[in-house]
Amino acid sequence: MSIIVKNITKLYGKQKALDNVSFTIDAGEVVGLLGPNGAGKSTMMKIITCFIPPTSGEVSVNGFDIYDNSLEVRKRVGYLPENNPLYLEMYIREYLEYTAGVYGIKEKRKRVDEMIDITGLGPEQNKKIGALSKGYRQRVGLAQAMIHDPDVLILDEPTSGLDPNQLLDIRNLIKEIGKEKTVMLSTHIMQEVEAVCDRAIIIDKGKIVADDTTGHLTSGSTTVGVVRVEFNEFVDDGLLLKITNVAKVRNIGGNSYELESKKEMDIREEIFKFAVKNKLTVLSMQKTEQSLETVFQKLTGE
Ligand code: ADP
Ligand code: MG
Repeated sequence: MSIIVKNITKLYGKQKALDNVSFTIDAGEVVGLLGPNGAGKSTMMKIITCFIPPTSGEVSVNGFDIYDNSLEVRKRVGYLPENNPLYLEMYIREYLEYTAGVYGIKEKRKRVDEMIDITGLGPEQNKKIGALSKGYRQRVGLAQAMIHDPDVLILDEPTSGLDPNQLLDIRNLIKEIGKEKTVMLSTHIMQEVEAVCDRAIIIDKGKIVADDTTGHLTSGSTTVGVVRVEFNEFVDDGLLLKITNVAKVRNIGGNSYELESKKEMDIREEIFKFAVKNKLTVLSMQKTEQSLETVFQKLTGE
């Protein structure tokens, strides 16, 4: 296992940015961390890369703990931070040689040549970073992230702000890189995950709401059952959440609710039993299906 995240919670003051998040990523996987702005993606990535500590929980990368062995973790992880901060006054080579120096790489020039080759920076290699287009700056960011040949790459919104052509180039580059490395990239765009990743972890308000292969996501075969039910009187959300296999409750006006099941389960019988037990009358009940894509659109408001 490459990355193991166990029960991670992160508080900024009183605000909970991550709420008991757990997942594992196997070596060689390309995983998308998908969620709307403020979901907690960057926070998760900063924790995995040892930039900030979690409030509680554990993370290990290739068996090294972020607390006990942060140096070993940093050696094995390459990180492209959000908004890719770069020294605009530096030349590409100068910057990459400087980064290589930070990691104590011996043959700096040779390694920088390799990185320029891999990331397709060749035609621009003699320019200052400030003179580059956003797409080429991202290539510099990727070169920087990979210079010490890490097993794991953490890329925070690597295509944000790129025009459609640059976006395709960078996605293709990430796909190429993903053949050899474990990659976790964050995005708020569903199509990006479809284009690049094997699997998506969908996060919203600091919690994981779905974790599945992109095959399932795109074919819509991973569905959650949603039942619309109307009772004869108002019922508290908390009470409805106690129904067996109900994962989410949404009041849709009056005494009507949408109850979402855990994966692919028919909860109608349980709802009926619940009504009987609580002396409620079911005025109507209908089962609907929705794909995770719809779920994601709902939670991102896209
Ligand atoms: P994302 O990358 O998914 O947009 P972030 O991880 O950046 O989400 O943020 C998650 C939540 O934590 C947001 O509500 C954000 O405002 C808050 N947050 C992030 N960084 C800080 C910080 N340094 N101090 C206080 N709150 C923060
Ligand atoms: Mg972010």
